[in-house]
Amino acid sequence: MVDTVTLKPGKERSLLRRHPWVYAGGVARVQGNPYVGDTVRVLGADGRFLGWGAFSPDSAIRVRVWSFDETDRIDAGWFAARIRRAVAARAPLAADTDAVRLVFGEADGLPGLVVDRYGDQLVMQLMAAGVERWRHDIAAALLAVTGLSDLHERSDAAAREREGLPPREGTVAGRPVGDRLPVTEHGVRYLVDVPGGHKTGFYIDQRDNRREVARRAAGRAVLNCFCYTGGFTLAALAGGASSALSIDSSGPALARAAEQQALNALPAAPCEWREADVFEALKALLAQGRRFDLIVLDPPKFAPSAHHVERAARAYKEINLKALRLLAPGGLLFTFSCSGAIDVDLFQKIVAGAVIDAGVDAQLLRRLQAGEDHPMLMTHPEGEYLKGLLLARSSAG
Ligand code: SAH
Repeated sequence: MVDTVTLKPGKERSLLRRHPWVYAGGVARVQGNPYVGDTVRVLGADGRFLGWGAFSPDSAIRVRVWSFDETDRIDAGWFAARIRRAVAARAPLAADTDAVRLVFGEADGLPGLVVDRYGDQLVMQLMAAGVERWRHDIAAALLAVTGLSDLHERSDAAAREREGLPPREGTVAGRPVGDRLPVTEHGVRYLVDVPGGHKTGFYIDQRDNRREVARRAAGRAVLNCFCYTGGFTLAALAGGASSALSIDSSGPALARAAEQQALNALPAAPCEWREADVFEALKALLAQGRRFDLIVLDPPKFAPSAHHVERAARAYKEINLKALRLLAPGGLLFTFSCSGAIDVDLFQKIVAGAVIDAGVDAQLLRRLQAGEDHPMLMTHPEGEYLKGLLLARSSAG
């Protein structure tokens, strides 16, 4: 007998709109005795079928929907089919890079699953009870679909805590993972630290934006704030930047950045990796009267949840204001927020406020987002987290 979750009256609406989450507050009753991660049949208050989903008794998101199709059977073959579809969709990226997100959770119909590929290495992250329950089948499908043999798991994300799942990291198949996996993106080589790096080791999501920086960097003095292992800096140098100052508070990240710089035969230009707090460093640079022609602001998530939005907005405003003041006339500002709780409109308002306070004229040249291997499900806008703006400071003012 299949276990069922019946929703309260009116709570079927979001599922009917193909949003894949059922919140605990929307559940009227659970029938049967589903174990963590088991597949349940989700029914409306009137008893109609809404979807198949994974039951997560410890999470505020009580069910994550696998499928809205009653004829689907959620089994190993179903996971293999979804994974095959996701992997196939990434094929066009192979010409640009061998660092690719193969599976991006909800957007690929696999809530809670992230899979990245670095060269011949696969890395998976299981962040919900459902994918945890199907872990072995998912791993087998990943190996079969890609034809690769090395699979590492880095399920250490904070999201697992909210699901009541312990962290897990280690080799799932093949050789133990290295901390210097070479990848090449748009001709620039990086060394990915899978066990120790942020996310699964690399900010794959910024690929298109690194290329955008490279395209516009020629002859420009570049300031890269929150540079981590220097992705934007290396792209700027490859694009012919005249100099680069890169700032991060993490010494190990900067050491890795310098190592990657040495690995690439980049055009010679003065390049400084500075260990400092960006807020302090921006103040100091302003006091010194420094000017830059291209500035990147890619800070950590200032708003980890909706509670932090106000304080985060102030922090985004402060760094953008200072960056705009440091920008030479005709200069470019690449500014990002990866806070899911701050949407595109709010981020644009914050940056517009900084432009006004800085007393400069600025044009929005482009909106920036994560690459196409981080798609957003149209019915699940929460999936959009990375947003950016490319501004040009007027050359007249
Ligand atoms: N732009 C990077 C990713 C940034 S991740 C890339 O493209 O790869 C955020 C980075 O900000 C981390 O490396 C972290 O060490 C750094 N950081 C966080 N708070 C900081 C602060 N106040 N000053 C300087 N660096 C900071």
